[in-house]
Amino acid sequence: MTSCIFCRIVNGEVPAEVVAREPEVVAFLDVQPLADGHVLVVPRAHVAAVEELEPVAADALFRATRRLSGPVRDALGAAGTTIGINNGAATGQTIPHVHVHIVPRWADDGAGSIHTIFPRKTRRSLPDVGAAIRRVIG
Ligand code: 5GP
Ligand code: ZN
Repeated sequence: MTSCIFCRIVNGEVPAEVVAREPEVVAFLDVQPLADGHVLVVPRAHVAAVEELEPVAADALFRATRRLSGPVRDALGAAGTTIGINNGAATGQTIPHVHVHIVPRWADDGAGSIHTIFPRKTRRSLPDVGAAIRRVIG
């Protein structure tokens, strides 16, 4: 039996408030929601990081995220959603099974944008960084 809690939810071994079950993806409510309607979208296949997703799983994950974001927003009467992935332990990822957070948002909810989590400690120029990334892409 796997020790991964999200695999166990996907397999139906652990209960969760499931909102969608699809061939490649399962979506369920976060047990400690940041806001009402906080949904996690997870690929059925266990991989820890976005970089490890098979292309078909990556496609299905974003397609499901796209498909669910409107209904999640509308079901909660929200004005928008913040959609994000903590990708790697250093980013705060606590469950090493890729998952997309969809969090309903309201203009007056007191939360910030994704930009507010960063202290903006940049040191390198954009051309320097751009060249470095292009070199690795090849
Ligand atoms: P992370 O920090 O890895 O991006 O987010 C993991 C999320 O999974 C957290 O928001 C946490 O509340 C949620 N979570 C952890 N364990 C469970 C669980 O057993 N069931 C559900 N539904 N959510 C969980
Ligand atoms: Zn897993």
